[in-house]
Amino acid sequence: MAPGRGVGYGRPVSEHTDTSAAFAAVGGCRECPVRCTRVVYPSHCVASRCPSLYLADRFGRRVMGCTHGVFGVEVDVERFRELQRSRAGFGGLRVWREPFDHCGCGVEPAFEHRHPGECVNPGFRASAPLSAV
Ligand code: SF4
Ligand code: SF4
Repeated sequence: MAPGRGVGYGRPVSEHTDTSAAFAAVGGCRECPVRCTRVVYPSHCVASRCPSLYLADRFGRRVMGCTHGVFGVEVDVERFRELQRSRAGFGGLRVWREPFDHCGCGVEPAFEHRHPGECVNPGFRASAPLSAV
């Protein structure tokens, strides 16, 4: 796992505890052993100066989050910047709510080497908005 990938360096946003099938459809596909996850890249939120990206202070740390809950955690800004300076960058966070066209998203396979054949859910793999970074 790349540094920061799938990890939020801040407290979880409390209302994002939905474990329903609807959430699973938004954030991940488990229809074959590959296990694909739809992620959103906070680096794109910052670079595009999205007005929905907010900053807040939590326990003496500056954090950032999405007002729409497209990603479900608040990210420690200092840690984000550190990881952005690394080769791998911060990476993506699992999508918790349906993203907008302007969000920078991608679909990341967890175990691509397991693939037994053709993808049986190509709609999911194509579900990231085209603005993906
Ligand atoms: S709406 Fe999309 S681009 Fe804007 S902060 Fe949320 S995830 Fe980032
Ligand atoms: S490869 Fe296709 S079927 Fe398999 S987990 Fe990914 S999207 Fe789903």
